[in-house]
Amino acid sequence: RAKSAGGNRFELADPEADARAITRHGLTTALPAALERGEFFIEYQPLVHLGDGTVYGAEALVRWSHPQHGVLGPDHFIPLAEHTGLIVPLGRWVLQEAVGQARFWHEQASLGGQGEHGAAARPLRINVNLSPTQLHHPGLVADTVDVLERSGLAPGALCLEVTESALIGADEDLLKPLRQLAEMGVDIALDDFGTGYSNLANLRRLPVSVLKLDRSFTQGMQRHPADPVDLKIVEGIVSLAHSLELAVTVEGVETGVQAEQLRELGCDTAQGWYYARPGPPDRLHTLSLADAV
Ligand code: C2E
Ligand code: MG
Ligand code: MG
Ligand code: MG
Repeated sequence: RAKSAGGNRFELADPEADARAITRHGLTTALPAALERGEFFIEYQPLVHLGDGTVYGAEALVRWSHPQHGVLGPDHFIPLAEHTGLIVPLGRWVLQEAVGQARFWHEQASLGGQGEHGAAARPLRINVNLSPTQLHHPGLVADTVDVLERSGLAPGALCLEVTESALIGADEDLLKPLRQLAEMGVDIALDDFGTGYSNLANLRRLPVSVLKLDRSFTQGMQRHPADPVDLKIVEGIVSLAHSLELAVTVEGVETGVQAEQLRELGCDTAQGWYYARPGPPDRLHTLSLADAV
């Protein structure tokens, strides 16, 4: 594409930007068929108690096994799916898959069964991400109820993650479906907390029960000694969250130093490469066993 640079001169636009735009276009148009062909899959990343490292659940993270580009992470296609609205059927698929997986974990546990690797099965909770478009979609509550009822998973075993930025300035109309889900027993988590500049006092108005502290805070804990101001900020957020009876999960824990700092600061639960990277569902029970010893 050429753009006018004044007078009669024309300059070529940034060729790399053009290439990216072409790729983006290609991915966007391929999305619906990819969903039909079953090219999406889910990886599960363990959620652990910071106190003793035991696994209590997992976050479902969607990936696209693209026939030409290989495995693509959500950052490559979720924004495109958001833009075209495909996120609604894709999100429904993720929810159904993830809830089905959690139901399987619960079944194995209640039968006193073994995980695929011979470790004792446990009823793990499941976290599923919701995008802003899904939040605005009128079918959200009905779809979620439908998925839960078909699977037989207890609503209390499901946690829906909504980003802080999606809820900034949210009016009662937007909060109502979340409120309904929360009343059914579904947990709502505020994802990537601390990046959205929301009014802290606003938190009490939201039907959330979990704060997921953004990875940027965790990165701050890596410096040794950590910046005392960073520590104070996290300490403040944790004490505010606890006074509102919210649990605090920290994202992106990559080292033991971070885990220890965050535990001392009063954070409740964690997720990160230090414990486990996202992976296939059958790995979860192996981790549970290792931690239970
Ligand atoms: P998120 O919900 O904040 O998920 C956490 C992201 O941090 C994941 O990236 C995860 O792989 C990554 N992560 C976890 N531990 C560590 C760590 O220790 N270090 C580092 N550097 N990264 C870590 P991923 O899988 O690329 O997902 C990116 C985002 O895509 C997610 O951020 C979420 O907002 C979105 N997403 C993923 N799956 C879905 C989905 O099914 N639906 C929707 N709407 N969004 C999704
Ligand atoms: Mg999330
Ligand atoms: Mg997050
Ligand atoms: Mg994040």
